[in-house]
Amino acid sequence: MSSCLFCRIASGEIPARVIFQDANLVAFEDINPQAPLHCLVIPRRHIATLNDMTPDDAALVGAMQYRAAQIARERGYADGGFRTVFNCNAAAGQTVFHIHLHV
Ligand code: 5GP
Ligand code: ZN
Repeated sequence: MSSCLFCRIASGEIPARVIFQDANLVAFEDINPQAPLHCLVIPRRHIATLNDMTPDDAALVGAMQYRAAQIARERGYADGGFRTVFNCNAAAGQTVFHIHLHV
């Protein structure tokens, strides 16, 4: 989706501090961090909100959660603890309508 900010980050059209990428996912530093580690894990595929997931997306979203845990471990937060959050729709605070997992 060419107008979507996170699609444009995933494609490399808009720069970001990318910390992981593979065929399906990209993880990058949040531009306005709310914690010492604050990154976002996104799917390359445009999915606007969690409401738009299909059953086929379940493994993809599971892979996002797995990647979040791997990043937390690499950054030294596995034992002390870390939080992951999806916001779904405006009332929950979602401002970018391409699903993203806050870590
Ligand atoms: P939401 O409020 O939708 O759950 O989270 C959107 C997040 O995206 C926010 O934490 C915000 O700081 C981050 N963000 C918004 N625009 C950009 C951007 O252009 N680059 C990066 N790296 N993060 C962004
Ligand atoms: Zn998108």
